[in-house]
Amino acid sequence: MASLSELDPELVPWANQLVGEASARGYSPRVTSTVRTHGEQARLYRRFVAGTWPYPVAPPGQSAHEYGWAFDMVTEPFDALAELGALWESWGGTYGGSRDRVHFELPGASASSETSSPDTETSSLLRPQAH
Ligand SMILES: [Zn+2]
Repeated sequence: MASLSELDPELVPWANQLVGEASARGYSPRVTSTVRTHGEQARLYRRFVAGTWPYPVAPPGQSAHEYGWAFDMVTEPFDALAELGALWESWGGTYGGSRDRVHFELPGASASSETSSPDTETSSLLRPQAH
C-alpha cells in the first residue's frame, strides 16, 4: 500500500480522514498511488498512451501526483468511490469523477500542475469539515 505520509503535508490529514471514513463505512479502502517520480509518471504515461492502463494519465511534469498533491484509492465495492468522491468534494477537495474514479486531490491541483513548477503552492486550501 502506498504511503499517505509521502504526500504534501497539507493533504495528509485529509487523505487519512477519507481512508478512515471509507474503512468506517466498510469499503476496504486501498491506496494504490501517492507520490510519483518523474520516471514513474513517464512509464505510466507510456502505458496509458499504449492503451494498457485503465485510468487517465497526465504527461510527465503535469501530474498532481508528481507534486504530492493527489492520491489514488480503490474500494470494495468499486462503486463506493462515487460516494467517497462526493464526500471529498464536500470537504473542498477535487475528485476525478467519472473520468478518473480513483483520483482524489487538493482543490485544483491538476489544473495547477499543468502550468506550475513543483514548489508552487496550490491556490486554495481544503475547508474544515462542516460538522
Ligand atoms: Zn490519480
